[in-house]
Amino acid sequence: MELLKEKIIQEGVVKAGQVLKVDHFLNHQIDVELLDQMGQEFYNHFKDKKITKILTIEASGIAIAVMVARYFKVPVVFAKKNKTLQVSNDVYTSSVASYTHQTTNQIIVSKSFLSEDDHVLIVDDFLAQGEATLGLISLVEQAGGTVEGIGIAIEKGYQAGGTRLREAGYDLLSLAIVLDMCEEPRQITLK
Ligand code: 5GP
Repeated sequence: MELLKEKIIQEGVVKAGQVLKVDHFLNHQIDVELLDQMGQEFYNHFKDKKITKILTIEASGIAIAVMVARYFKVPVVFAKKNKTLQVSNDVYTSSVASYTHQTTNQIIVSKSFLSEDDHVLIVDDFLAQGEATLGLISLVEQAGGTVEGIGIAIEKGYQAGGTRLREAGYDLLSLAIVLDMCEEPRQITLK
């Protein structure tokens, strides 16, 4: 998606550890018009599938998921990062290793909001090793639902997540794919 690629080139900041900061338009300040166009792109790609829910993970996936959901006219469900030691029986749960924070989070979704009748489009801001997405897939599977597709704003193509998901047969659309990036001198190469 050209507009997203332009934004990444103009405003993306490369941090240590191969972390791309896009706080100017996606992860802190939000460019609503850009996100609306991203929602339209995802809709165009997945519109022939029967989608009943958009599933994402807090916090940074929520804004994108909301824009996608407006086109599909379905609810957004976001997995929460569990902060308590005890997990109730009312939730589906999965463990996710965080790429940016180097920690492992337990993510949860209430059993009220995912069921075997659900056809789910998973949406997130970044795809790196694929841990977050695989955690979300696990939640859908626990509910007996169907993952219809995966929509990612920015895939870091040189990390394993994209290959893992495509080889597993998922319909994965990434709106921008980073082929290479360097902190100093600043350089971001997109597909
Ligand atoms: P994965 O689970 O695929 O390894 O990483 C994806 C998750 O980690 C996303 O939910 C995203 O929040 C975060 N993440 C991974 N790489 C980056 C990055 O380069 N920049 C930012 N801002 N977040 C990232």
